[in-house]
Amino acid sequence: MPTPKTATSAVQASSPVTVLKGVGAQLATKLEKLGITTLQDLLFHLPRQYADRTRITPIGSLQPHQNVVIQGEVRGTSIVFGKRRSLLCRIQDGTGTISLRFYHFSNAQRNNLSTGSIIRCYGETRRGASGLELYHPEYQIINQYEVEQGLEQTLTPIYSITEGITQSRLRSLIKQALTMAKGIYFPSLLPNYGEEDGHTQSLFEPLGYLHAPPKEADLHQLLEGQHPYQQLLIMEELTAYQLSLLRLRDKRQQQPATALACDQAAKHAFLKRLSFSLTQAQARVINQIEQDLQMATPMMRLLQGDVGAGKTVVAAMAALQAVANDKQVAIMAPTEILAEQHRQSFEQWFAPFNIRIGWLTGRQKVRERREQLEQLKEGITQIVVGTHALFQEDVVFNDLAFIIIDEQHRFGVHQRLSLRHKGINETDGEEYTIPHQLIMTATPIPRTLAMSAYADLDYSVIDELPKGRIPVETVIISQQKRQAIIERIQYACQQGRQAYWVCTLIEQSEALEAQAAEEAAEILTASLPNIAIGLVHGRLKPQEKDDIMARFKAGQIDLLVATTVIEVGVDVPNASLMIIENPERLGLAQLHQLRGRVGRGSTASHCVLLYGDALSLQGKERLKAMRTTTDGFKIAEIDLELRGPGEVLGTRQTGDIDFILADLRRDLPLMPTIKDHAQELLMSHPENAAAITRRWLGTSERYANA
Ligand code: ADP
Ligand code: MG
Repeated sequence: MPTPKTATSAVQASSPVTVLKGVGAQLATKLEKLGITTLQDLLFHLPRQYADRTRITPIGSLQPHQNVVIQGEVRGTSIVFGKRRSLLCRIQDGTGTISLRFYHFSNAQRNNLSTGSIIRCYGETRRGASGLELYHPEYQIINQYEVEQGLEQTLTPIYSITEGITQSRLRSLIKQALTMAKGIYFPSLLPNYGEEDGHTQSLFEPLGYLHAPPKEADLHQLLEGQHPYQQLLIMEELTAYQLSLLRLRDKRQQQPATALACDQAAKHAFLKRLSFSLTQAQARVINQIEQDLQMATPMMRLLQGDVGAGKTVVAAMAALQAVANDKQVAIMAPTEILAEQHRQSFEQWFAPFNIRIGWLTGRQKVRERREQLEQLKEGITQIVVGTHALFQEDVVFNDLAFIIIDEQHRFGVHQRLSLRHKGINETDGEEYTIPHQLIMTATPIPRTLAMSAYADLDYSVIDELPKGRIPVETVIISQQKRQAIIERIQYACQQGRQAYWVCTLIEQSEALEAQAAEEAAEILTASLPNIAIGLVHGRLKPQEKDDIMARFKAGQIDLLVATTVIEVGVDVPNASLMIIENPERLGLAQLHQLRGRVGRGSTASHCVLLYGDALSLQGKERLKAMRTTTDGFKIAEIDLELRGPGEVLGTRQTGDIDFILADLRRDLPLMPTIKDHAQELLMSHPENAAAITRRWLGTSERYANA
């Protein structure tokens, strides 16, 4: 049991990395890029991956994507001229053969790989043109005496590195650090973990183990992050993350915001003119927001509601509260079409109250834009609806107190922050305020994930659809039955209904997608001569796009051929049939969004998933989920299971979170415990709360923007 004091050694956990041999100012700067400035930082820079270089794997037993050492005899080396010239070297060990492939190679290298040489290689197996291959493996030619020697004694850690620092450099630094840090006490900072004699267990041994696991360690367990030592450290890291989000929240709550009193009369007048009554869920959420807005601290609330749940009207009522206090509101949508739709709804709902709605998009004419900016600045505009254009530097508000962001997953977190700065009037000196924020999303993030990834936000859900909606019936059909589907469109349109035909592409290229949609439209026009067909895609001019959407909304277009640009928010209740070509190319959440465009009226709606020939088994499973449920939350759970939170949350958000060991998806089950730990640390061990964030996040608050 190490003692907490290390009087014998001058080196401490907090010593700078420059105490290590060979680390000068230059290398220290590079290490800093990895968040490493102290000895402790270096030791907590743990590997996520390992390679087993303690033994040689028989070539005959190799599978793709294994990190291995192999050894064999070179059977021939030649230059192949394919798409790219490469050097191919075949080796054999008596159990099988494999090729090494080099795209960059020298003549010397080519000569060195001569037939009959014995070679040892380290690398990851891949499927290549000649069967299994290793691309650019590390290798050495060995003589017959070395055949049994030179293998590693421990598993080899693979670290995340940065430019100018190689794996082997980092490995040797960490080795050195481990030797130097022997005897330093690295207390476990979680509450109640391994207490003995009044001291928590030292983490030195777990750290040493994870940097150099013994030969006989369970590699699979380590790769899955399931080793008890990893779990212990993951708990610390996630607790640190949780604490940083809580602190972010805390900081925000210490900032001033404008308290917006609720104007009951305005609210009732608004409700009275609405053509429907609110669902219970809507009413509940509006109450939550109403309460928040009355506070003199900034609201930061995430509102989730499945497609069609009616978030817009909730946003409108919240906006009304700000306007009733003579403050300005900005509402931002990710696409022009969606922003336009919000503008129409807002104009319609607010017309009786003489509330002035502004409009800002990137594609406005100069003069119009100037006018809009002028009115915003003067405070004539009360609610401004727009796209990213709201972020532009020249946009100045008169008195912005409330920001609403729709379909949040489409925006990066940083954009969210930059809009918030618009509300801070710096000329006011000390008396600045931070605008309230409402963030809306139809991507149903499973609750546990939402609570961990957005622990700094409050959270509301509209978990009820307006009455009278009939669930969309989904069918999965092969593209070979396209003709039958076309007849179905014909029939639906003759009945006065409308339909969508959605084209998807693997590559996210607007140009290619537009082309695919154009072709589909041509074919459909030829087969459906009596049907009015419109085409909308991301390459149209905004004016053209708006015109077509308006005509579709007005019922002048029966069938709208579209790309996934219609994904978010478009509302045409009379459309009751949607065909999605190659649905297997999209994520479930995205399919769910698309499907949400139908089933908005009172007729029964259908969604046809027209899959391509190459549908995989997993692809089929996923599509089946679409058929069996219309519950966005269930679909999100399945999506999370199949694709991970990076996809579900949008890579931007999770990509920002730069964990060392943790993985939000894999470690989700730990979250409830983590929350408890974080609370307990704050309550009973605030010094540990500070130490644990310092340990895992450094001073830079790495997750602050996540
Ligand atoms: P989303 O939550 O997907 O943004 P919208 O706000 O676009 O949904 O609402 C979808 C449609 O439902 C709109 O036409 C809207 O006017 C209508 N709507 C909203 N709330 C109700 C309600 N309580 N009863 C009936 N229709 C409603
Ligand atoms: Mg919406």
